[in-house]
Amino acid sequence: MDQRDTKGGDFTGTSLLKLTFKVEGADPGEFITYDQSKCNSCGACSLVCSANLWAVKDKAKLSPRYQELCLECAACYAVCENDAIAFRYPNGGAGIIIKHG
Ligand code: SF4
Ligand code: SF4
Repeated sequence: MDQRDTKGGDFTGTSLLKLTFKVEGADPGEFITYDQSKCNSCGACSLVCSANLWAVKDKAKLSPRYQELCLECAACYAVCENDAIAFRYPNGGAGIIIKHG
C-alpha cells in the first residue's frame, strides 16, 4: 500500500477498490436492479457512484460488472428521486470485505 494511505489522513490517489475484495466463489445475486422507464436521465446515480459503475446518456445504465466492482454503499439507490433503482445487500456470504476499515 502507498505511504500516503496511512500517514496524515491523505488519501489522495487512493482507490476504494484497492481496499476491498470479494468473497471468492460466492454468488451475490442481482442486488441492484433498475427500471429505465422511470429514469429521467438526471445523472445523480452516476455522480455519486465512487466505483464509476453508472453511465447516463439517454437513460441510466449499470455496468454489467457491478456484482464484481460495486462497493455496496447504496448511494445510487438513495439519490434516485424517481425510485428507478432498487438495492439490497448481496446474498449472505457474498459481497465485499473492507480490508482497512
Ligand atoms: S438517479 Fe435515477 S433518474 Fe437519475 S439518472 Fe440515475 S436512475 Fe435515472
Ligand atoms: S451501491 Fe454504491 S458503488 Fe454500488 S453501484 Fe450504487 S453507488 Fe455505485
